[in-house]
Amino acid sequence: MDKRVNLLDLNHEELIRFFESLGEKPFRSNQLLGWIQRGVRDIGKMTDMPVILREALMQKASIGNLSLKEKRVSKIDGTIKYLFQLPDKEVIESVLMNYNHGYSVCISSQIGCRMGCLFCASTGIGFGRNLSKGEMLEQVMMIRDDIGRRIKNIVVMGIGEPLENYESLVGFLKAVNSPKIMNIGYRHITVSTCGLAPQIEKLSKEGMQINLSVSLHAPNDYIRTQIMPINKKYAIDNLIEACKIYTRATGRRVTFEYILISGLNDSKNDAGELSGRLKNLLCHVNLIPFNTVRGLKYRKSSLGKAAIFKAMLEKNKINATIRRELGSDIDAACGQLRRHVIKE
Ligand code: SF4
Repeated sequence: MDKRVNLLDLNHEELIRFFESLGEKPFRSNQLLGWIQRGVRDIGKMTDMPVILREALMQKASIGNLSLKEKRVSKIDGTIKYLFQLPDKEVIESVLMNYNHGYSVCISSQIGCRMGCLFCASTGIGFGRNLSKGEMLEQVMMIRDDIGRRIKNIVVMGIGEPLENYESLVGFLKAVNSPKIMNIGYRHITVSTCGLAPQIEKLSKEGMQINLSVSLHAPNDYIRTQIMPINKKYAIDNLIEACKIYTRATGRRVTFEYILISGLNDSKNDAGELSGRLKNLLCHVNLIPFNTVRGLKYRKSSLGKAAIFKAMLEKNKINATIRRELGSDIDAACGQLRRHVIKE
């Protein structure tokens, strides 16, 4: 097991202290960050540092610890799914999507997930551990370096519940936003949660204009509890109240993710009830055609039903879109690739 410090886990002050512990001046931290910003993470190539310092650094520290295990490119739309391996042999997945407005990277925040959403490929694989801030950051860096292009948007929507890994998440958000590291504006970052209401309120106080995406997937507690165990802890009314606090504090609208599952949550009545709940809330509803997962019983709603659902929301003055399905040929839905690799 690699006992070296992962420098991507440190914030700027911690990095300065690390260099001081080696008898070096604080400016070394800026030199190191400059290389990282330019996509160089091989300490041996950091030629503005003396050889003796580079050797000491290589002994005591690493800049990241992920290795690429598998990569799948969609022939349909170019979406790329990456599977990365960690030193403890755990695997995590990330996805690159090419939208009209630029490249977006979707990262994982935990190894596995313990939230148990029934429609999710991550359920049943088990929970390993939280990812560190550096492990989250490195997913973005590895993908940026692989494609050689600027990453415009980040979504923390892969495997795991990011708000359950709160401290690492906030450290990661600050790092990607930092002009010294990735310089990606908070408005270009989205954090997705299955509905941890207290943490949503906590995030609203961080002073970051992060986009919040909430996995709602049901118009009432009866349906939501069937597919999302977290609803037993934080019922829909608590969740929506936390979202209101978030929009008031940040001025950002909340996106509600709603997977349309045939016969479960896709009727006209469901759309009407959902409209009532979201009335007067600064929000948008993202309707998602269910991405069929082998081994799960749920089926996708028809396109016709999705269109009726959307029209009903719009009639009630709720903004709604039907999400374009990306990467359907490469297991791009969250947890699918990892699930297959683990089971193979
Ligand atoms: S949908 Fe998200 S929160 Fe729910 S089990 Fe899957 S990864 Fe976890």
